[in-house]
Order: sequence, then C-alpha cells, then structure tokens
Amino acid sequence: KTNTREKSCQDSIKPPSQPAVFIPVDRLPEIQEARLRLPVLAEEQVIMEAVRENSFVVLCGETGSGKTTQVPQFLYEAGYASGSGIIGVTEPRRVAAVSMSHRVAKEMNLSTRLVSYQIRYEGNVTSDTKIKFMTDGVLLKEIQKDFLLQRYSVIIIDEAHERSVYTDILIGLLSRIVPLRNKKGLPMKLIVMSATLRVEDFTENRKLFPVPPPVIKVEARQFPVSVHFNKRTPLDDYSGEVFQKTCKIHRMLPPGGILVFLTGQAEVHTVCRRLRRAFPYRRGHVANGEGEEAPADTSEEIRRFKKAKQKKTASLPRIDLDNYSALPVDEGDEDRQAGIDDEEGSDLELDDPPEDNEEKADPSLPLYVLPLYSLLSPEQQAKVFQPPPPGTRLCVVATNVAETSLTIPGIKYVVDCGRVKKRFYDRVTGVSSFMVNWTSQASANQRAGRAGRTEPGHCYRLYSSAVFGEFSLFSEAEITRRPVEDLVLQMKDLNIDKVVNFPFPTPPSAEALVAAEQLLVSLGALEEPPRSGRVKEMEQARLSCPISPLGRAMASFPVSPRYAKMLALGKQQDCLPYVIAVVAAMTVREIFEDLDRPAANEDESSKLAQRRARLAQMRRLWAGQGASLLLGDLMVLLGAVGACEFAGCTPKFCEENGLRYKAMLEIRRLRGQLTNAVNSVCPEVGVFVDCKMAPPTESQVVCLRQIVLAGLGDHLARRVQQEELLDPKWRNGYKTPLLDEPVYIHPSSALFKTLPQFVVYQEVLETTKMYMKGVSAVEPEWVPQVLSQYCHFGSPLETPAPWFCHSTGRIKCHCTSTFFRCGWQLPAVEM
Ligand code: ADP
Ligand code: MG
Repeated sequence: KTNTREKSCQDSIKPPSQPAVFIPVDRLPEIQEARLRLPVLAEEQVIMEAVRENSFVVLCGETGSGKTTQVPQFLYEAGYASGSGIIGVTEPRRVAAVSMSHRVAKEMNLSTRLVSYQIRYEGNVTSDTKIKFMTDGVLLKEIQKDFLLQRYSVIIIDEAHERSVYTDILIGLLSRIVPLRNKKGLPMKLIVMSATLRVEDFTENRKLFPVPPPVIKVEARQFPVSVHFNKRTPLDDYSGEVFQKTCKIHRMLPPGGILVFLTGQAEVHTVCRRLRRAFPYRRGHVANGEGEEAPADTSEEIRRFKKAKQKKTASLPRIDLDNYSALPVDEGDEDRQAGIDDEEGSDLELDDPPEDNEEKADPSLPLYVLPLYSLLSPEQQAKVFQPPPPGTRLCVVATNVAETSLTIPGIKYVVDCGRVKKRFYDRVTGVSSFMVNWTSQASANQRAGRAGRTEPGHCYRLYSSAVFGEFSLFSEAEITRRPVEDLVLQMKDLNIDKVVNFPFPTPPSAEALVAAEQLLVSLGALEEPPRSGRVKEMEQARLSCPISPLGRAMASFPVSPRYAKMLALGKQQDCLPYVIAVVAAMTVREIFEDLDRPAANEDESSKLAQRRARLAQMRRLWAGQGASLLLGDLMVLLGAVGACEFAGCTPKFCEENGLRYKAMLEIRRLRGQLTNAVNSVCPEVGVFVDCKMAPPTESQVVCLRQIVLAGLGDHLARRVQQEELLDPKWRNGYKTPLLDEPVYIHPSSALFKTLPQFVVYQEVLETTKMYMKGVSAVEPEWVPQVLSQYCHFGSPLETPAPWFCHSTGRIKCHCTSTFFRCGWQLPAVEM
C-alpha cells in the first residue's frame, strides 16, 4: 500500500555512516492513510539525509505536523535501532512520554515491549525496546550512570522550545557526548525538535555547536483562525469567564470541538464540573465510571498512608510524589506539579462557584466534556483522541499540556484564559512555588493555532488586545529565572566540575553561578578549594570544586541544598522524623491561615479578631516552653504538624486552629516523599513516616537547633548590643552579614519577646520593616563548631563572641571546643 514511500526510503539510504537497511513496518491501512496527511512525511527524505550527514540536526515544525510520532519511525525504518543502539526520545512532560509511546507503538503495529516509555517511577522498557520515550529527567539520570549513553544510537530532544532546564542541560551535555562517541567509533546522532522557529539559542551558540547544525523546517497546513479579544480583562474570576464563554460557543456556534486553556488541575475540574452540569451528557460519564467528582487523589494518598500504618510494615508507603521536587533530576513537568499546587487552595476557583452564575441545565444540547492535564491517567488522556459520542460536541478543558505536546483532532474553537502556571523560585529561600501569570505572545499564538488544524477556526481570548500587547514575546528559558545552587549541585553530581564552562543554550548569570558554588562549598556539598597557591589557580579552583560524599547524598533529596543539608544531618539522635517534618513545613508556603486580611463588615471583623486570638494562642502552645521555645518558629511549625496529625489532619481541626488544610495535606505528602528519599540514600537508617510523632525531647530540640543552624548558616543574625546603639532604629534590631540595615523579629514570631542574641532565619520579608521569618535561636558557642567554614578564628580576648567581619564576609570568633565537621558519615553532635 505504501510503496512509494518505501521505495524512496530504500533508494535514499546510503552508507557509509549508516548501513543501508530498511526495516519494514507493517502498518494498518487507516493509520498509513492518516500518516500520509502529516506535513512531516513530505520531508522524510530531507530529514533523513540531514541526519545521515550530520551529527546534529534541528527540526522545526508546527504542533501537529507529526514530529513526535513520525521522526522516531523514520529512524527505525532507516535501521537506527537495528544494531546495538536504540532510539531515545525525551519529553519535558510525562504525559507526552507515555501517550506518544503508546501512539507510536500503535502506529507501527508493534508491542510496547519494543516501543516503550520510562518516566521516573514507572515504565515498560524491556531488553527488546527499540524506541524509548522518556522524560528529560530520566535521560539526565542515565547520563550519570553512563556518560556516553552507549545504549542509544540517536537521541531526539523533543519540545526544545519549552526551554525546560533539563532539556537545556541535555542539549549542552549531548553537544559534548556526541563528538566523544563519534571519536570512539560509536557514532551517535542528536535531533533537536521544536514547535517554534526560534532556535537561535541552539544554532547560533558557538560554544554549543561550533558549526551551526542544519535547520529543517516543516511547513504545516494551517487554516486561518479568527482571533477575538475580550473588551475587558477579567482579573479574578477568569475561570468563571471561561465557563460563560464556552457555554455561549456551545449554544450559538456551529459544530466543531472546543478546546479550553486553563492553568491547573483544580481549575480544569471546576470548569468541567460546571459544564457538565449545564449541558448534561449522562450516559457517557456514568458508563465509563467518570463521575463528576474531582479525582480523589488526596484522599487516596491518605488511604494509602492509613493502610500502611495499619499493617505496621516497616516499608514505607510508596508515594509517587517526586512531582513535588524543587530540584533537578526530577522531571521538570510544571503542569504536573501545578496539579499539586492546586491542592494548596489559593485558587479562588477551587470553591464551588456562586449559584447565580450557574447556567440552567440544558440536556437538549449534550456536551462531551473531557479534562486534560498531566496527572490524568493515560486511559483518561487517550479519550481526547477518540471522536465524541454521536450527537454531542467535544469540549476538552486542558492545561497548557494541549498547547504543543498533544494535538487534539477536530478542534474548531479555542478559549484561552491567557494565563499559565509557572514555577517561581524565591531567591531568598530557594523555595519554589507556583504562580499564575500571563503567558507569552508566542504561547498565546500556539494556543490559537490549535483551532485551525482541520478547518478554519476561532480563538476567543479572554483578555483585551492591549493586554496581549503587554505579554512578553516569548517565554524565557526557565534557567534564567531561578537560583542555580540546586542545579550546580546536580551537575557536580554528574562530575561536571567547571559549571561556568558548561555550554548552556542560555547561561545563568556568572554571579548566580559563583554564589551557588560558594554556598555549596559552605554547606560541605563540594570539596573545599585550596587556600594557598597562585592567585589565578586558586581563582580557577574556586569555581571548579568537585562534589563531596555529603554532596552526593544531598543531591538525591528533592529540596534545595540548605534543606538537603539538614536532612543529611538528621539521623543524629533519632531526629530525622522531626527534621523531615520541619523541612516539609518550611518548604510548603503559608501553612497558617491569612487572618490579616481586611474584614468585609463588622461581623466578620469580630470573627477575624477571635480567630486571630485563637491562632496566637495555638502558636504559643505549639512553641512550647523552656528548651523547645528556643527552636522558635520552627518549633511552632513542628508543633502544628504534630498536633494536626495527632488530630487526624481533619479539615475541622485545621479550621478551628487557623491552619490551612490544603497546606497540611501537602506537608504530609512531602514528608512521605522525603522519607522515601532519605531511605533510599541511607537504608540502614530506616525512617518511617509516623504521622503521629511524639514531641521531641529536650536534647533532641538542641540537636534540631544545631541541624537548622548547619543548613541556614548563611542566614545567621546577631542582635545589636547596647553599646552599638548609635541610631535608635537599631533598637531590637539584628545584624546580618549581607544587609546594611537592621532586620527584626516579627511580632508574630515565637521569639519576639525572647530576642535571643543569635538567631538563624528562613527568609527576610520586607513589609513595614525588614522582618525575619522562620526564626530559631542559636547558641553563640555553636557557631565556631557548626559553621567553622564561615569563621575566622582569633584569640578569646580579641573576639569574646562571634562577630561579623564585613571586610572578609566571615564570622570572627575563637574556637571554644574541638572542631568537627557535620557530615553524613560523622558521629552524632555531642551536647
Ligand atoms: P507534533 O509532534 O509535530 O506536534 P504529533 O506527532 O504529536 O505532532 O502528532 C501528529 C498527529 O498525530 C496529530 O494530528 C495528532 O492528532 C495525531 N495523534 C497523536 N497522538 C494520537 C493518538 N493517541 N491518537 C490519535 N491521534 C493521535
Ligand atoms: Mg510533538
């Protein structure tokens, strides 16, 4: 049936770089027919010739032109998987890796033993696998084990336009690996695929590719799409607006699928629920078991925890929560992570919408509503590719996973909320969170383009053209908007010591890299550079410190290095469960209800005042007395987690005590994940997540304070002494090594009245004053012990207590007791 193409393929395959083979594929006729309509098929010969003649090839083509599904097949047919090597394809999103492997297996009429996928904890790869789809994080991990990637004959980096950190790093690494392989006589190819034409960051970067790689453009057939802007831009309830607009389209416009873009899982479910209520299509969802409820993943999590507890097994509940990660070598799947963030409850849309906005149910116009986001099961995802039941209209409510990763057939209308949920990195804390922001013009245009795949279409943008004009042109590379200490640690873990020289497609700033390296040396994650020698050599060495054994352990924890350090030290005095709980609570934002919001009326105002009093009382209770009080705000966190778990972590308990229920659930999940991570690094410790932990003993509290000091050492602050009070603004103020201005303990802090001489803090927040958040008291004599790397030692007379020396950036002090270094393999901290 398909002989013209077979022939052209056979004709064009020439040695020497690749054997002249043609591996036949037995496709079903209907599949073959559909393939022939894909624009990329017309370019097969050009693509394969370029691949044969070059080690690096860049392929650009509109979403839906067939890159992801077809290029691996071209390579397979050309024999790239017939020798010892296989074809590897990386995706920034799990959903794409899984779904595309299934699709390609189906198109090729091959079993999933041959066309397989691997995502972090899951996969169906066998020894027979020929085409392997995986997330970019998985390939990065494989490079750690085998730098030359000898299993592969070709690597395809898909969706390179998304500029995920791992994709960027993989391209940098492969730009070195491929020439090494060629030199060794084990030729290898790299194909970079992008949905946009903006590939200069790869092709024009001489550090990356000394000779610019050929760029092949696939022209896609695209029907015109009329773009309709809103007159005004809804700022709050955009998901309500999305709902209204979708209803209108469904009521008034001719047949054709609707694709709705929202930012996260919770929004998707809310809008799906409302649409299903408005245009019921009963039989379908009941029959396939898809009810109207949002997936019970949280309660599922809880159920698993409970079950594991009941069984009293030593094994941990295996919680697939790698998605929480703040670190590389997880998969940079924002959308998937966004799903988790929704649990946080900050979205207004989480709550049921007000009834007056609700459409009247209209069963005469059935709408076949399907959600689409990364966390959705593959079976549910696959539904969007099926034609809707007869007599219904398809409506897919999606996150930006439908923007370029997946192409849904039959879409004529696009409703675009104009926003995207992105990882946001807090430079102060190194904590990552997710924020909903405007998307870029390029993304908005991609979204619009989804409406013109099969016929002319319409895109409804729920924002004004003026707002669109303010969007950035392109989404910037993720690497430029995050601190890089975690990344640097991961690269060192790959034995890339000179991170500055690494060929990043878009490099992070030099200062960011230097700061990261210094912090990691201070934390003991990197070997210390030599302190003597020639200035230039020392300078060089300072920027190419190799990783230490402690660093290797830290690299495997999915939190930023300061917190990873605490985890690495946590096994002392059985403190690990507490350290895990504290780190989890510090990493989840805003666990306390926001009671400072203005009240709408008097009634609410008195209610708020009552709740504030209640929360303050609980905080005092959780902070404890005596020894535990000195752990300060971190004790409050620990107390809140402990008390909440003791009460079964119910919404009622949280509501009564000023805790955010969603945050508490998130902490619980994160504790599970961190426990898994610690157990896999150090199985002999064998921690178990005990939801109900007893409060720490006095000596454990002391140990915890030291561990916190070791992690937050660069966030040390010293109270200003009486004799230093030149300016009244310094009253009750603290000095820090980095800031010239005083910082203060916040009135809500557990240590506000205590005002310890030395404290460490989690972050500084500027409101009316600069306030430290997450404050814990430190004993001055611990500083030379725990933070010796920051210290500059003098005689006891000269330096009675630790002092900041602004000229050296070090802490001046004298040595009070024997030195030790906190390290994973070292003995417990002695009190
Ligand atoms: P690109 O990677 O260039 O965006 P793809 O290779 O993903 O394009 O998609 C090519 C075509 O294959 C699209 O028309 C898409 O609708 C179709 N397709 C992809 N996955 C499936 C699937 N699971 N079922 C049916 N069609 C699919
Ligand atoms: Mg694709």
